[in-house]
Amino acid sequence: MLTKAPKGTKDVLADQSVKWQYIENKFREICGRYGIRETRTPVFEHTELFQRGVGDTTDIVQKEMYTFEDHAGRSITLRPEGTAGVVRSYIENKRYAGVKPEKVFYNIPCFRYERPQAGRLREFHQFGVEFFGSDSMMADAEVISLAMDFFEELGVGELELRINSIGCPECRTRYRKALQDFLRPHLDELCETCQSRFDRNPMRILDCKDPKDQEKVQGAPVMLDYLCEDCSRAFEELKANLTAIGIDYTVDPGIVRGLDYYTKTAFEIVTGTIGAQGTVCGGGRYDGLVEELGGPATPGIGFGLGIERLMIVMEATGAFLPEDPPTDLFIAFVGEEAKMFAQKLTHDMRKQGFRVMSDIAERNVKGQFKYADRVNSRYTVVIGEDEIRSGELTLKHMESGEQKKIRLEDLTTVLGEK
Ligand code: ATP
Ligand code: MG
Repeated sequence: MLTKAPKGTKDVLADQSVKWQYIENKFREICGRYGIRETRTPVFEHTELFQRGVGDTTDIVQKEMYTFEDHAGRSITLRPEGTAGVVRSYIENKRYAGVKPEKVFYNIPCFRYERPQAGRLREFHQFGVEFFGSDSMMADAEVISLAMDFFEELGVGELELRINSIGCPECRTRYRKALQDFLRPHLDELCETCQSRFDRNPMRILDCKDPKDQEKVQGAPVMLDYLCEDCSRAFEELKANLTAIGIDYTVDPGIVRGLDYYTKTAFEIVTGTIGAQGTVCGGGRYDGLVEELGGPATPGIGFGLGIERLMIVMEATGAFLPEDPPTDLFIAFVGEEAKMFAQKLTHDMRKQGFRVMSDIAERNVKGQFKYADRVNSRYTVVIGEDEIRSGELTLKHMESGEQKKIRLEDLTTVLGEK
């Protein structure tokens, strides 16, 4: 147990982190272009927030939350997703009194007690975006185009954008009844969870992962046929906006976010390249959520994007992922005096912005050179008594093996040349 990480978690090792940073920087950079600023909220929240904000008929709340009591007996939950916490923060900090729309992004770990498999972890990471205060479909199109830009600029191909509308509480009342009528004859064949959803939230049944249940919902009525005039117009506007930007999409009536406060736009970005866990991004509009959680009625739209899944897709499709940058200079040393000199030189060069290494394990010269190779150094130099006296260094270019004599004071100039 001691040296085994909990099931469903994954370390990011030192030689992988550069790939994460590359993806994170790209996301941050694109958000900047869209005028979206970062928000940071706690890893844990009051359990009630997720029960209300995610919905207590969802798989997340019913089966997947990491919930515990703190020492004062409060029920606390590690966040299973990002939206609820961001909405809580929006309300608590009265952000609705500020500039509208408020556009925020986040980069967070999430926790769900799921069955671990490829692309499905118990601790995973999400990028997310939330916009508050615009009910225009321009907001939906912007959120979607941001996600698409991100994938495109990372070189992730073969992605499909699927959009749907899940209506509003008004049109959903009629749909709900039609859906219940359709499901009623099969009710006792559905899984236990879905039976319990039948009265409170039948739309959730459409999203059940149980294959037997999936079979039963084949041919069920679709929300798109029940949209009210307002929702129907909004969906047409969304499509027109996407077309105007030049984003391809397919309409998928099967996309469900079956909660009363999720409204209108629902979308997924899916890849066929990695098998079952192919949804890399999911999002939609939640015009009722801010009010449901105690704030003033405020429309919202956002998405969550799984970083581990994105990485799997990038690796599977051969998209570019960076390696560690090389070390500019490796400073080897022979003898005690040279050791002191080398430490100072290493420090000075680092202060000037170069990536510099020396052997802090104090191996012999042969060992130091081996190490220089391992840290992929462009140049090496050996400091000994002669070098200290003469101020002249022999700089070795590691790849070509070429050596040249330079003055110590010219070192930065030479290294600065690429
Ligand atoms: P799925 O249908 O695959 O379970 P979901 O609907 O539960 O996904 P969302 O809550 O919309 O997913 O989360 C947004 C994104 O986060 C997903 O599209 C996916 O990329 C990622 N994600 C969700 N759950 C996990 C998990 N357990 N492990 C890794 N990534 C995940
Ligand atoms: Mg899930």
